[in-house]
Amino acid sequence: MFGLQGQAIPAVFPIHRLYAPEMKYGKRGTEFKLATLANAEAVMVKIYDRGIGGTAIDSIQMSFAGRTQDNDIWLAQWIAYMRGDLQGKFYTFNVKQEGRWLGETPGIKALAVGINGQRGAIIDMRKTNPRGWRRDYRPDIPANDLVIYEMHHRDFSIDASGGFIYPGKYLAMTERRAVDHLVQLGVNAVHILPSYDYASVDETRLYEPQYNWGYDPVNYWVPEGSYSTDPAQPIARIREFKQMVHSLHRAGIKVILDVVFNHTFDIMGSNFQRTIPDYFYRKAADGSYSNGSGCGNETASERAVMRQYMIDCCKHWVDEYHIDGFRFDLMGIHDIETMNAIRAALPSDIFIYGEGWSAGGCAIPNEKLGMKANISQMPGIAAFSDEIRDGLRGPWDGDDKAAFLGGVKGNEESVKFGIVGAIKHPQVNLKKVNYTDKFWATQPTQMISYVSCHDDMCLVDRLHASVKGITEDELIRLDLLAQTAVMTSQGVPFMLSGEEMLRDKKGVHNSYNSPDSINHLNWKNLRRYPQVMDYYSRLIHMRLAHPAFHLGDAELVRKHLEFLPSQDLVVAYRLKDHAGGDKWKDIYVVLNANKQSRTISVPSDNYTVVCRNGKIEQSGLDTFNGNTVIVPAQSALIFHN
Ligand code: CA
Repeated sequence: MFGLQGQAIPAVFPIHRLYAPEMKYGKRGTEFKLATLANAEAVMVKIYDRGIGGTAIDSIQMSFAGRTQDNDIWLAQWIAYMRGDLQGKFYTFNVKQEGRWLGETPGIKALAVGINGQRGAIIDMRKTNPRGWRRDYRPDIPANDLVIYEMHHRDFSIDASGGFIYPGKYLAMTERRAVDHLVQLGVNAVHILPSYDYASVDETRLYEPQYNWGYDPVNYWVPEGSYSTDPAQPIARIREFKQMVHSLHRAGIKVILDVVFNHTFDIMGSNFQRTIPDYFYRKAADGSYSNGSGCGNETASERAVMRQYMIDCCKHWVDEYHIDGFRFDLMGIHDIETMNAIRAALPSDIFIYGEGWSAGGCAIPNEKLGMKANISQMPGIAAFSDEIRDGLRGPWDGDDKAAFLGGVKGNEESVKFGIVGAIKHPQVNLKKVNYTDKFWATQPTQMISYVSCHDDMCLVDRLHASVKGITEDELIRLDLLAQTAVMTSQGVPFMLSGEEMLRDKKGVHNSYNSPDSINHLNWKNLRRYPQVMDYYSRLIHMRLAHPAFHLGDAELVRKHLEFLPSQDLVVAYRLKDHAGGDKWKDIYVVLNANKQSRTISVPSDNYTVVCRNGKIEQSGLDTFNGNTVIVPAQSALIFHN
């Protein structure tokens, strides 16, 4: 299309070459490649001694190597080769377009970077593998067996009460204390908040307390530096990230990455904009940048290069870092086709889920987007259920509003919707379910069951805010009741880290940049509220030990899960006839949010009670014979025959 001097030049690279590494280190020399818009005029590579500051020690103009077409775009390919062993040096690209230099950038897929991600790092990736990495494997856990623990590195280990050697670092997860805690709790997947290189923590000033969730991506292919012991050493963040993964894998725990492809920290300074300007971002009809993320921009997953970029980046995290799953931030901004392409490109055991909504209007119509309502068009991809979340705790638009837990009638069907895993079920009355007018999941493993996550108030704060005059006893009762609903759901259960030690965030609704004093876990709470950790742990272990609680198949759920006649503020159901091959015949689960006990009728038989009044014992707390049973106030009762 556009020749060097205006004449047509045929594509010289097969398409996949577009996505080859931008830097390839060799002992004798390093190769650089970059794809730009077809009308770029020149590209410079600069070499530095350091990742930040100082002047370039070398620079070279890249050679034009041809043009390629990729569906919706023509690209120019540039190459350069620099002789000598450049290991330990840093590089940037600078693209000249329409007479203007766009600014230095490490490119759009640097595999290693210097401090604050400003320059690419020239390293030998093989040197980043920790001991035992070749024997590292992804734990084999089917989607319906997962119990997900959402964790921020700094929240988890920063407080002195935790006694960690590496507070706030990847390496904390290699410490026995961390692993033992997770194993004791019973979770088998840790979902880490954004851990690619992000902008909002200054890696040159880690001696100052800084906190951010990290939803402001800079380099998508590289771990964040502030969680490493030395962000100035490009190998450290990569190796330590792998050490974390290996440690968790050895404990049988999967590692899920929170990926934020839907927007970047900014537009004008972004690596995307400095490499292929105005391609990666959607624009509205008037030419302004669309902002479906609420963060100033939204990316264009439907474009060929962006789509392939997302696929390749996920593959890189799986291949290089052995990541087990991805949580897509604002998945409702990405198009369905791209999400399905990512699903198809990744091994089937990689678990994929996302937020099935956006944070504002997008530049393409909702029917084409990865919205919750479209999940049935995305097999093998799950979405968070705000139905069960808000049916339990109260609506997202007011922290002081309560729902089922706070004794507000009318939320029972929303809880039931979550119990079945958002699949079609004859006993769930959709007309009374919040937020949705359809059963959006085809399989129960397409629904994430939860009552709290990093967003909004954590559970303790929400209960304080929404239940007037709540006592500590009531708080704990309702907390345990909430998680019993989550953990007995046929969806995939998910919990925010620290709920097991009754964490609070001092009432802060959006703690994305709050100090450690708000966000940290206080490990002393484990001793203050031992009954909470004990209940959570027993609850999770009971779920995992009984296939009836996680059937993983919509037909089986419809066949075996039967709700009992409804009462206000009670959700009761049974998992009948050895569901999923369970050794327990009929399992009854009763969630009672009333401030008084309630009586439930059951077929006359001998029953063993395994959960009552905040206590769980799989081998049985008690037995009863008959056809009625009393469910204590604000608690769950589980029994079987
Ligand atoms: Ca960073």
